[in-house]
Amino acid sequence: MSSMNPRLALFPLSTSVNERGHLVIGGCDAVKLAHDFGTPLYIFDEAFLRQRCREFKAEFGREYPNPRVVYAGKAFLIKAMARLLKEEGIGLDVVSGGELGIAQAAGFPLDQIVFHGNNKSNEEITMGVEWGVGRFVVDNLLELEILDRVCGERSHKQKILPRLCPGVDPHTHKKITTGNIDSKFGFPREQAEDAVTKAMASPNLELAGLHFHIGSQLFETEPFLEAIDFTLNFAAEMKKKHGFELKELDCGGGFGISYTIDALAPPLATFAKALTSRIKDGCARLKLALPQLIIEPGRSIVGSAAVALYTVGAAKQIAGVRTYVPVDGGMGDNVRPAMYQAQYEAVLANHVNKPNTKTVSIAGKFCESGDILINDIMLPETHPGDILAIPDSGAYCIPMSSTTHSPG
Ligand SMILES: *Cc1c(COP(=O)(O)O)cnc(C)c1O
Repeated sequence: MSSMNPRLALFPLSTSVNERGHLVIGGCDAVKLAHDFGTPLYIFDEAFLRQRCREFKAEFGREYPNPRVVYAGKAFLIKAMARLLKEEGIGLDVVSGGELGIAQAAGFPLDQIVFHGNNKSNEEITMGVEWGVGRFVVDNLLELEILDRVCGERSHKQKILPRLCPGVDPHTHKKITTGNIDSKFGFPREQAEDAVTKAMASPNLELAGLHFHIGSQLFETEPFLEAIDFTLNFAAEMKKKHGFELKELDCGGGFGISYTIDALAPPLATFAKALTSRIKDGCARLKLALPQLIIEPGRSIVGSAAVALYTVGAAKQIAGVRTYVPVDGGMGDNVRPAMYQAQYEAVLANHVNKPNTKTVSIAGKFCESGDILINDIMLPETHPGDILAIPDSGAYCIPMSSTTHSPG
């Protein structure tokens, strides 16, 4: 076992290595999958996905009565995923009519859907109301007005959660920070009261509670705690001034995962304990009834469940500078490294336990110099036809893919 590649810790739990030295995921030889289906190929470990859904329910359920786990579909959503969530009793966040369409086509219960988005179109709002989505997370006053009118015209009463912008810094990459003051998402404090009073005054809207989502790939609990304090203080003030009752508190997602072995994410229990105890303490201090807790993990459910497989081409060695190892995918299927310097590790799926001997950079095949999947990674000597496996490729890769230079 001592010769096992330590990077295997970043792969789904079932991952092993067979007698040929090939990567095996969910009982399948990854090299055979690559040959049978072609590359780039994203393989998902369904058992691992289900286990993550159950871990979220168990870890938060241990600390808090009846928490609701709502998966953020924008991380990865296909019909099979929606069906899996339904079977696991997990709700679903959507951010567009397209995602809502996938959920509907999969037979996902639409009352278990939370409709997000900072600029929902009139058509999307109407679609959400007519299809009966459970909750709208309202992002601005115009949306509130349109929703009010659309519901009024249909004699429909819609549950809503205004999205607050708590003004905290979650200490993650700025392109995945969403809860700071300078953010395109949510109501800043000075507009939030308006949203609450307008919603309370509308016969078409039921103000169920409040929502925040401060960012993605968070490793620290402190920013969550600040956002909870902000939201509970605001709720208490609205209760005093307007008789508002906080029935639901949606703390968003953002729980970080381990992409590299030198930056391991805290266990889920750490987030579960910290968030729930802060909510319980805050409610006791402010004399608020304990709200229904909602959490919206995306990346932390699906991220580590998938592995991307690529076929390696001819290495380009530039003496004294760098060696590029090209693969047959790149920013077209995973834009994260180009967009926000996301870091990944990799192994050679056909030689998992061969010693690493060389520092190389993994280059994508797209005509952008920025199309580098991994900068400076130690790998064994590579040969054209080798299969490169990148773990933790389940979140924000396929939904953000493009068809640039598609072979047709
Ligand atoms: C993206 C998003 C999430 C999920 O974020 P992760 O970092 O993937 O957990 C949850 N809630 C909202 C509103 C989002 O936009």
